[in-house]
Amino acid sequence: MDYPERLITVADGVHVWAPDGVGTWGLANCVLVTSRDEAALVDTPYTTDLTERLLAAAQPLLPPGGRIGTVVNTHANGDHAYGNCHFPDAEIISSEAGLEHARNEPGPEQLHQLVHHSDRGTPLGWYLYEHFGRYDFRGMEPTGPTRTFSGELTLTVGATELRLIEVGPAHTTGDVIVHLPEQGVVCTGDVYFEGDHVVHWAGPLSRVADAVRTVLDLDPAVVVPGHGPVGGPRELRAHLAYLEDITARIHALREQGRDAAEAAAELLRTDPYPRLGMPERLCILTELEYQHLDAAPTVAGPIQLVTAAARAAFDRAHPGHRDGDQG
Ligand SMILES: [Zn+2]
Repeated sequence: MDYPERLITVADGVHVWAPDGVGTWGLANCVLVTSRDEAALVDTPYTTDLTERLLAAAQPLLPPGGRIGTVVNTHANGDHAYGNCHFPDAEIISSEAGLEHARNEPGPEQLHQLVHHSDRGTPLGWYLYEHFGRYDFRGMEPTGPTRTFSGELTLTVGATELRLIEVGPAHTTGDVIVHLPEQGVVCTGDVYFEGDHVVHWAGPLSRVADAVRTVLDLDPAVVVPGHGPVGGPRELRAHLAYLEDITARIHALREQGRDAAEAAAELLRTDPYPRLGMPERLCILTELEYQHLDAAPTVAGPIQLVTAAARAAFDRAHPGHRDGDQG
């Protein structure tokens, strides 16, 4: 796996570390904001190794002394926040709901155990190792935010204004987008993915679509997704159409009386977006959306949701190995 040795400058003082994460989990974009003698980072990488690579790539852009004084977490998933532990002197900011989510998110050591000690003969164990086996999470201290807010918070980094806007629950319960009005940039976190099917953990999908509309209403020139290549409003509008279409397909299948597993299987079979990777994520979206539509008392946790996706990916990768299937 190649990781970027340079950040992409997308506007004055706004630089994106954009690993090629299409087709897998965990490689998220991080955005470095520099102005005068200050620097801030939107999201931290998944592992110690990735954080070291990011910092090496960022070095030439950092102010004298190289200090990153502010870290913003768009949400509490590990691929955006585990790296917090490598910024012990920074103020780490998330939404209050994001802090609550961080308390329930599996920690790095826990994930390491799960990935490296699950039975790889099972679809879940195979899938976890396939996508997360390359990561070493050992020795990373779970590090949550040191400052939280609800609604909106405006920060200044040097002469640059960062508007933090809470848009969750959407991808997770505590999602935040970061708007740099003068630079015309919005960092969306995972309310927007580019290149792969999306995955969401909180929902319902209408909330994610609302979050995307909030980004569009800010009229940005540059949109930095949580994962995948940097785009603009055109790509984001196309993404909104995709989200609305997937949502409508799931709702229609439910109205036809299909259960969540049947609906997911039908979506996978017809695969309306063959250009996008990670089609098994449709299982997660379907299960989550059904739970909202059925007003289930609690929404399933990530492992439960990933299990269905793992099964679908396993079947696709091992044709003829389906339980009870002689084909
Ligand atoms: Zn992510």
